[in-house]
Amino acid sequence: MTYLFISHDLSVVEHISDTITVMYLGNMVEIADKRTLFNDPKHPYTKALLSSIPQAYPKQQRERIVLQGEIPNAADPPSGCKFHTRCPMAMEICQKERPQMQTLKDGSRVACHLY
Ligand code: SF4
Repeated sequence: MTYLFISHDLSVVEHISDTITVMYLGNMVEIADKRTLFNDPKHPYTKALLSSIPQAYPKQQRERIVLQGEIPNAADPPSGCKFHTRCPMAMEICQKERPQMQTLKDGSRVACHLY
């Protein structure tokens, strides 16, 4: 049996998923097994989502990444990488070219010009 579980709360997703797909404005931006995604996230949006998970123990706090700007209109998305208007790592190419999904050595898949 396979379940497709959709949530904004990765702390919940972690407990019931084997493979996690992160989406932004309707596009898949990262796909990885649970351990890889939580231990070594690649996409800047994934990193921001993970940083927003509240930690029960203050010593385990992650550095919080607060995204700037508004969520773009999904019916009229930004050119290139749809995340470039809010991405803290955005480069010039990100406004022009949509990044393609590629498979990395650890088996995770990411759509980002940083890789
Ligand atoms: S492609 Fe560019 S804007 Fe998009 S997530 Fe990667 S670095 Fe950020």
